[in-house]
Amino acid sequence: MSDHSDAVKSASRRERGMKFWKVVRRVCQLAATIDISFFFLFLFLGSPVLAWINVASVAMYTAAYYAIKRRQNRLAIALIWLEVIVHSALGSLMIGWESGFHYYLLMFIPAVCISSVRLGTIISLIVVIWAYYVGLDILMWFMEPLQPIPSGALLGVHLFNLSVVLAMLAYLSFFYMKMVVSAQRKLQKLATVDSLTGLFNRRHGSDLAENEIARFRRVGHPVAFMLLDVDHFKLFNDRYGHETGDTILAEIGQVIPAQLRSQDIAARWGGEEFLVILPDTKIESALASADRIRVALRSHDWKQATGESIDVTVSVGVSEVCENDDLASAIGRADRGLYRGKAGGRNRVEHEEELS
Ligand code: GH3
Ligand code: MG
Ligand code: MG
Repeated sequence: MSDHSDAVKSASRRERGMKFWKVVRRVCQLAATIDISFFFLFLFLGSPVLAWINVASVAMYTAAYYAIKRRQNRLAIALIWLEVIVHSALGSLMIGWESGFHYYLLMFIPAVCISSVRLGTIISLIVVIWAYYVGLDILMWFMEPLQPIPSGALLGVHLFNLSVVLAMLAYLSFFYMKMVVSAQRKLQKLATVDSLTGLFNRRHGSDLAENEIARFRRVGHPVAFMLLDVDHFKLFNDRYGHETGDTILAEIGQVIPAQLRSQDIAARWGGEEFLVILPDTKIESALASADRIRVALRSHDWKQATGESIDVTVSVGVSEVCENDDLASAIGRADRGLYRGKAGGRNRVEHEEELS
């Protein structure tokens, strides 16, 4: 179990990592495109120095893009940091704080939070960004721009930079939300589903059974349970090996739900034991449903999964929830039905209570 969940965790971490680097690559493409347009804009505005800074920026983003492709992720991050730090400072020094080049520094805050794992690293990096940002702000408070541009053009650059940064922040937040939702889904699946059969695990199965009992108490709709146990399962393991035993269990995890309605719930209750919850079902229909499963398992084509024709039978105990029942008593009755099935020769469906 722990080997399996470790493998699942490391696979999902790898997948998350791949998605993250895909986003960084997209950001590099976008940033390079923006810098190309800045090159022409600043040439037009008569600021050749700023124009050529943008050529250097495009080169750095291109290098970062290909570094990620070659999995040199650290190099890519270093290039991006360097570009943003230098570009925001030079842009501000040349045409003034109002240019809004400093806004790009703010992008680092969500980026650092998404990509770093250690809290210490995140805090240190944010402090560095804060100090740099505040330092630049103070410096520009006392300094005139080195190469001012007309105020209309300055407003245009300011609004453009602000819009790009807001759009990028929205994109990063959206990506982060998607990552969190998908991680949550995976965790929930890991916590509620049995990995071998794909059915709900025992813990989640009992939670759902408790819910149905509570609903029965509230609105009085009938609820039935069945407990299924594979007959002489040990013999399959002994004869064909544990792996084939697992294959049979996985296959049972497909055959049972195929015989159920969409509102019915199947869970793996133990090794080769299964619980089925049948909402809005009285004992007579539950017995019929259990028998359908028994017949379906027996007539299933096992040769495809196991390579041999085998005879898989189950004994099933069925119970209907009645007044004053709790989970233990309702399942206990199904269990006693199951015991009767075993004692009566197996491959049969039994119940404990009298049919009304
Ligand atoms: P009965 O008809 O009385 O139920 O006989 P049985 O052999 O099915 O019952 P028993 O309880 O003696 O043995 C159950 C077997 O199920 C023993 C155990 O090794 C096997 N088993 C339980 N979980 C797994 C599993 O995940 N994979 C495999 N391959 N075997 C399992
Ligand atoms: Mg058993
Ligand atoms: Mg058994």
